[in-house]
Amino acid sequence: MQLLDGKQLSLTLQNEIGLEVKEAIALGRKRPHLAAVLVGNNPASETYVNSKIKACENIGFRSTLLQFTDQVSQQELVVAVQQLNDNEDIDGILVQLPLPSHIDEEKVTEAISPAKDVDGFHPVNIGRMVKGLASFLPATPYGIIMLLERYKIATEGKHCVVIGRSNIVGTPVSILLSRNTYPGNCTVTLTHSKTKHLKDICLQADIIIAAIGKPDFVKAEWIREGAVVIDVGINRVVDASKKSGYRLKGDVDFENVSPKCSFITPVPGGVGPLTIAALMKNTMTASKSRYS
Ligand code: NAD
Repeated sequence: MQLLDGKQLSLTLQNEIGLEVKEAIALGRKRPHLAAVLVGNNPASETYVNSKIKACENIGFRSTLLQFTDQVSQQELVVAVQQLNDNEDIDGILVQLPLPSHIDEEKVTEAISPAKDVDGFHPVNIGRMVKGLASFLPATPYGIIMLLERYKIATEGKHCVVIGRSNIVGTPVSILLSRNTYPGNCTVTLTHSKTKHLKDICLQADIIIAAIGKPDFVKAEWIREGAVVIDVGINRVVDASKKSGYRLKGDVDFENVSPKCSFITPVPGGVGPLTIAALMKNTMTASKSRYS
């Protein structure tokens, strides 16, 4: 079994982007600039946004954080996004999800200019991705694609079972892995909460991508010997021995599943850091597109 070290790969990717920034500055170009919009006090969202801002600092991007209380109206958020669209210095915009229930996330996502949509959630980018056109890929699926690519994991003709059909992970990763390219050319089965016989389907998988949001959901008895397992889940479980009172667990029962795998991602330190690296890649691409 080989561990897919997302933390290390994310650092490598961020170093590569940092070099691109230096080259761009040497050519007299503008420093890439990411704007993050954070609403409310969701601790997980705050942690994610802080990690993204920190990555910007490490790479040499500018970053701007716009914070709103959870009383903010949808209209105020849309106006803030439109101002970021109009701001010439901003290359990429991310609105950290989830938003409070009184706000329609789609309305806010759609307010972002597709050219600055570095999280890849805008319907224009999703549509272009489905057609195989140049687009900003959704950050987590893009991170998974880079992980498979950098570890040279064979995907052609493989049966990939994706568990979970969210718009931000399961559905887009299923599309990317069925494309006629590398990584891709998989035969993909997209499973979800209404799927029957999930264990039997997983037992046929060469590659499993779990994005469900339930700790230890995927069991060792579901895994074929030698399978590749990508665990997207980030679940907080109570742990009194930790200062924070919790620890992070994936959607896969890592302890029992990992001995059966050829490759597996840990949680933490797997897909999470790659999501950040993918966001940085997209921001660099957005910045470069001004000069091409
Ligand atoms: P979600 O919470 O929007 O949806 C969960 C999905 O799981 C749904 O599509 C549902 O159909 C499916 N599901 C639920 N119960 C099921 C069952 N019994 N059998 C089969 N499928 C079932 O999903 P999400 O936003 O993609 O998040 C999933 C997990 O991934 C969460 O733990 C989240 O925190 C994590 N996540 C991690 C990253 C990262 O960067 N690593 C990014 C996004 C999400």
